[in-house]
Amino acid sequence: NSLLQIRNLKVNVEEKNILKGINLDIKPGETHVIMGPNGAGKSTLGYSIMGNPRYEVVEGDISLEGEDITKDTTDKRAKKGIFLSFQNPLEVAGISLGSFIKNAIHEKTQKPIKLFAMRKELKKNMELLNMEENYADRDLNVGFSGGEKKKAEILQMLMLNPKLAILDETDSGLDIDAVRTVSNGIKEFQNKEDSALLIITHSTKILESLHVDYTHILVDGKIVYTGDASLVDEVNENGFERFLTA
Ligand code: ADP
Ligand code: MG
Ligand code: MG
Repeated sequence: NSLLQIRNLKVNVEEKNILKGINLDIKPGETHVIMGPNGAGKSTLGYSIMGNPRYEVVEGDISLEGEDITKDTTDKRAKKGIFLSFQNPLEVAGISLGSFIKNAIHEKTQKPIKLFAMRKELKKNMELLNMEENYADRDLNVGFSGGEKKKAEILQMLMLNPKLAILDETDSGLDIDAVRTVSNGIKEFQNKEDSALLIITHSTKILESLHVDYTHILVDGKIVYTGDASLVDEVNENGFERFLTA
């Protein structure tokens, strides 16, 4: 009953081998954390799961609910329920955050949107994220601060309700208050039935108040160690040193 299953995944970026045989199983409802030094391939893993065409799968496969998605487009994967929050979200002029979310929900469900219910849900989630109501009417990410962009990503995640959300460095560059707010948003997502999370991070601030099932250490394109939530604290104290020599 795996949600996401990755088998011996090898990925090249511009002809260079970055991921060197990743195995990963995520079940519905689980939260997995990927930690590792800079350049280890964490973001590459996120983009590969999402199907970014710049990331070439040269071996292995990725499946979602038992269905091979290795060759699916990003669009198709999004419709099947995978969401990726970017390290550096794009700024899109001419489309508001609110319509962006509405379009994304429509794309995914292919059904007419219940506008009133959506507005209500949007308002509730924006309150949870301490976002001013008028943010929904502003152009997507244009002129947003780093923290506001991250909150907008979490808002999209909550509204789209994917089966698997991948959060790449969602806490980078956030002040303490913004980390707490974003963390509350992630917690809200964890409370949804069967929602699974893959949290990529090299810091641990955001994890302090979140439930974590598994922590994986990624070094040089390979998962070299898997542990439970306590591994987060250990990395926090001692860094990645002991995993680099393994
Ligand atoms: P991490 O997220 O763990 O810091 P990345 O996945 O971003 O690591 O990068 C892993 C390696 O792949 C690095 O050597 C990086 O330079 C390279 N890489 C990743 N994405 C690209 C890209 N789009 N173009 C060129 N090189 C890339
Ligand atoms: Mg990265
Ligand atoms: Mg859950």
